[in-house]
Amino acid sequence: MPTYKAISPNELLEIKEAYTELFDKVSPKFKGDDEENINEAFELALEAHGEQRRKSGEPYIMHPIEVARICFEEIGLGPTAVIGAILHDVVEDTQISQSDILDKFGPKVSKIVDGLTKIDGLYNNESSPQAANLKKVLSTLVEDVRVILIKLADRLHNMRTIDSMPRHKQIGIAAETSYIYVPLAHRLGLYNIKKEIEDIILKIKEPEDYNYIISKIKETEGDRKNYIQDFFKPLSAKLDKLKEDTNGRYKYMASENGDEALTFDYRILGRTKAVSSIYNKLKTKKVPFEKIYDLFAIRIIADVPIEEEKQICWQIYSIVTDVYKPIPERLKDWITSPKGNGYESLHTTVIGPEGRYVEVQVRTERMDEIAEKGFAAHWKYKGVNTSNNVYDRWLNNIREILDTQHSDAIEFLNDFKTNLFSEEVYVFTPNGDMRVLPKGATALDFAFDIHSDLGYKTTAIKVNNKIVPMGYKLQNGDQLEIITSKNQKPSESWLKMVVTGKARSKIRASMKEDRRAKGILGKEALERKLRNMKVGFDENVDLIVKHFGYQSRPDLYFDISNDDFKMAELKVFTVENQRLVAPAKEPPKGNPAPTDEQTKTSPKSAKTKISTNILVNDEPIDQYKYDFARCCKPVQGDPIFAYLTSENSLKIHRLNCTNAENLLMKYGYRVLKAEWTRLGNSEFIAELMIKGVDSGVGVIQTLTNVISNDLQLNMRSFSIKGKEGYFEGLISVLVKNKDQLKLAMDAIEKLDGIYEISRVEK
Ligand code: MN
Repeated sequence: MPTYKAISPNELLEIKEAYTELFDKVSPKFKGDDEENINEAFELALEAHGEQRRKSGEPYIMHPIEVARICFEEIGLGPTAVIGAILHDVVEDTQISQSDILDKFGPKVSKIVDGLTKIDGLYNNESSPQAANLKKVLSTLVEDVRVILIKLADRLHNMRTIDSMPRHKQIGIAAETSYIYVPLAHRLGLYNIKKEIEDIILKIKEPEDYNYIISKIKETEGDRKNYIQDFFKPLSAKLDKLKEDTNGRYKYMASENGDEALTFDYRILGRTKAVSSIYNKLKTKKVPFEKIYDLFAIRIIADVPIEEEKQICWQIYSIVTDVYKPIPERLKDWITSPKGNGYESLHTTVIGPEGRYVEVQVRTERMDEIAEKGFAAHWKYKGVNTSNNVYDRWLNNIREILDTQHSDAIEFLNDFKTNLFSEEVYVFTPNGDMRVLPKGATALDFAFDIHSDLGYKTTAIKVNNKIVPMGYKLQNGDQLEIITSKNQKPSESWLKMVVTGKARSKIRASMKEDRRAKGILGKEALERKLRNMKVGFDENVDLIVKHFGYQSRPDLYFDISNDDFKMAELKVFTVENQRLVAPAKEPPKGNPAPTDEQTKTSPKSAKTKISTNILVNDEPIDQYKYDFARCCKPVQGDPIFAYLTSENSLKIHRLNCTNAENLLMKYGYRVLKAEWTRLGNSEFIAELMIKGVDSGVGVIQTLTNVISNDLQLNMRSFSIKGKEGYFEGLISVLVKNKDQLKLAMDAIEKLDGIYEISRVEK
């Protein structure tokens, strides 16, 4: 236990102030003994955390207070959750026990704190793969969703204050957060929190790009404001009955023809997209910042009674599209069918001033609150419309997956990712009943979703009256008809045609059952045969298994019943004293036993390795066998990490390698901190993709000249393909470090005819 500096009187004052502020905010919601409990929770947490401090030096108690505030203000949870949040770290980090909490605060709070304690410190547990952690997170989630919401608030605060953590921890936390918490925030509809967390993750992983985008957003802010004003001007002109209210709110006094007066307030927002989504655009579309037109969306939020929501949203839509031409295929009506996470809104893209595409989102205050705060806000409006069971359905899905047997943790993760983090697809039965399946689900999944017996007997599937393969991926609006046959039986290949956990586990169970039934027949046949040969069963069967190279008795029985093993083969044995005796030198038949011919070829690492200057866990890398990952080819100066392979050698990856997140998450315990030392005379292979036009003046010639003569770089390979003047080239060069590579790339980019140069990521 580290020793801490005592809390100073000044700090105590600050703590009390922060708590009082929280108390005042929550107090209007108090019921029963909430007031007493919240005070008691604070006193207990204050006492229990005592002199503990956070990495930042702040008294620890400030953290639970802030988490409680986030729960209340940013997620919209009530007093019980606030009390749980104040206590969320006491059982984990202090002397207070779970039964103390139960005694003082009763079963509700105690259950929440217990759940939070169980899922705490996931990343610290380095020997445990992440899948098991996720399973833990989910089991607490189905017990009380508040647990996971408080956990998200906790993670959000930790992310907001992550600057005080050492860099390698930041990376680990970022990886875990992006793997588990970002999708959860998405699925629970906590859009604001998701956006903020994703931006912090980007800041950790790609600080340069992050800062670049932030500065660009600031730089262009004025232009954007002007543009949004220009956009809105003809709208307000068109709706001349619209009156501006003092707070920048507007009042729509009457409809255009003057009768049917609709009175409602609304407000307009120009919202900039998340930094991370701009980043993804820059990377995937490879366009410069200036060319991204959908940096922002215009949001029109109407404050109207629930009964009129749909009508008024469509009315606003029609006003907007009277002025600006809409792009029809970009119309998304999530009011009629809300998204799987409860999101409701009407989206369209129109051609705005200067011919730019502008996304317009129309929604009501209620929809907006749900979109921003998600789950908790959703429950506030429970009973409003049919979409309210989306969470119930989701929670049921989680329960189902947790109950499903998975062959390993990775399969569980995959199952979870496809079934729960994904959006949904809506399809119909022949009677027109709607079924909701995870996006990516297949026609065969649909059959199992209707009923497992229907799934087992499926022989063909019609979608919109046409026969499709059973693995056909469902599209919204498809109408499906299942054709069955009594004699049909699932086979191994079916597993490749389904994605839902339900279908998979049913197919597997059926195959197991099939195997078991066949096994009994096979065993009986063998018993009969051995009886005829006048030898005992039990004392001889293992000899047969071994002789023919089977892994186990059931495998042999199964082959016998399938006629893959012929009884005649038993003739190789001779019978002595009622026992089988194996022939002297007969080569094994049937399934060959694994021959243990592990090809222990050490990959060319030793040869291609150039002496380098890397520290792994602060020690020179030379003591390890190591190699640079071929997927991302790090050069000196790139942020890197080392990954311990199953052959006990190290692979050095770039931190932004496309495989990194996966490795960090699934095998976090194999990841070692790695960094470059300053000194170094090594060279690295970097691969560059160059695109441009060769207008006949020999760009390619110039290019090679510049690289080998001006830049004095050693070119390892060069391949180029082109068509009608346009060319794409792949060049590998040897460079000393990231700076030299950047200089080279800048120089090449400046050449006439080159319009894009990038480092090959994969
Ligand atoms: Mn915490």
